[in-house]
Amino acid sequence: MATYARQPVAFVRGEGAYLWDEAGRRYLDAISGIAVCGLGHAHPELAGALAEQARTLLHTSNVYRIPLQEQLGARLTALSGMDNAFFCNSGAEANEALIKLARLHGHDRGIDAPAIIVMENSFHGRTMATLSATGNGKVQAGFEPLVQGFIRVPYGDIAALRSLAARRDVAAVLVEPIQGEGGVNIPPVGYLQDVRALCHAQGWLLLLDEVQTGMCRTGRWFACQHEGVTPDAMALAKSLGNGVPIGCCLASGPAAELMKPGKHGSTFGGNPLACRAALTVVGIMERDRLAEQAARTGTRILDGLRRRLADLSCVREVRGRGMMIGVQLDRPCNELVKQGLDAGLLINVTADSVVRLLPPLIYGETEVKLLLDALTAVLHEYARTRVEAA
Ligand SMILES: *Cc1c(COP(=O)(O)O)cnc(C)c1O
Repeated sequence: MATYARQPVAFVRGEGAYLWDEAGRRYLDAISGIAVCGLGHAHPELAGALAEQARTLLHTSNVYRIPLQEQLGARLTALSGMDNAFFCNSGAEANEALIKLARLHGHDRGIDAPAIIVMENSFHGRTMATLSATGNGKVQAGFEPLVQGFIRVPYGDIAALRSLAARRDVAAVLVEPIQGEGGVNIPPVGYLQDVRALCHAQGWLLLLDEVQTGMCRTGRWFACQHEGVTPDAMALAKSLGNGVPIGCCLASGPAAELMKPGKHGSTFGGNPLACRAALTVVGIMERDRLAEQAARTGTRILDGLRRRLADLSCVREVRGRGMMIGVQLDRPCNELVKQGLDAGLLINVTADSVVRLLPPLIYGETEVKLLLDALTAVLHEYARTRVEAA
């Protein structure tokens, strides 16, 4: 189906931070399949683990114990300070689990129609509940009636949240620590801590969508750790399997006890293959200290871009955290994706006017320089031909 306006290129091979197309041309990957391939492509250790697991056991069922799933749950709860985990296959499904936890929590508190506070410009997925939670009319258009029970407030605005404190029907707040699809929007310092405190005071669950920000992307294992915040539940996916589909809902405290047998499930979720992939990813990220590397490399890219783009009037702001970076332009710039492609550089444009970079976390000196050179050239060319002409 025509669900994507695809770029006219097909990649047939990858290695580290590079992809090759059918004609043998090499590209620098600065988007990682939208924040998925944090370890880069064709990682030999991951490939070896997957091949071995394929020869051993791919799938059993969640009606049986799955030792690899138990190990992965133990690793992720230890790294995040959470108590338990539910495994699924995507970010949207992980968020569905958050939404179901919120509804269970609300009903436990005697709320007939529990509501979840969500944010403007958020993105939570494409299933009916998650697109209803998403703060983007384009994602929702044509799919009405939407799922009920979401209240929307501006992102990063703690006063807007506090103004809902008197409402009796609120069960939870669902928020991204940094908005990804919404344009790499970073909330004010202390925002997440304030939301955490408000949720505690109100008896609301704090639900974090870390699907994009999790797994070392922003320079910590999870973006909430920058503020020392532990949510009641959090959603992971994207980089967790480095390309093998896997999603996860982590929960802590009373929220970890809400699900009972029969309340939720998944056929594929947490199967041996997916869990072996994620366990291997976690092991490599830990051993190679990729959170620290992402923080360091991201700062270099951010500083480099700020310096080199300072003379471009069409660049409003360069912002980011770790390897999650946005270049805010003063106009819609979707054509930059194709211009990047022509220059051998894979980037993304989101929220119409933000060039988004989500490079593999494994970038070295060479890749940082290549990226800075290529993106600077593409943006200067864009400014010369498009902006001056306008
Ligand atoms: C990508 C993304 C999702 C959806 O994940 P899928 O795996 O595509 O379902 C949800 N939330 C955030 C923040 C995302 O970036």
